[in-house]
Amino acid sequence: MKTLAPSINEGRLWPGYGLRVRKDGNRAVAVADADCRCGKFSRSASGDVEVESLVIAYGRHRRDDCPIPEIRAAAKKQYEALQRSLSKRRK
Ligand SMILES: [Zn+2]
Repeated sequence: MKTLAPSINEGRLWPGYGLRVRKDGNRAVAVADADCRCGKFSRSASGDVEVESLVIAYGRHRRDDCPIPEIRAAAKKQYEALQRSLSKRRK
């Protein structure tokens, strides 16, 4: 089956893994934790800057470093979709 607009919900595909970011209200400190299914990436962070770098590191791991091909393929699609939506917004 072909989908024109793939929506990837990693949490549904692999329960218990993925990226979770929580921030409640403007003054709350952002908290995030990320686990990859391969088990090589498992980190948590708190604070806006730390959370942002965790999100970036997690994305890079999944796209470039992860030993699981499905994860790299899914991350590549997500990254391309993100790039598309970012460049649209800039125009
Ligand atoms: Zn991985």
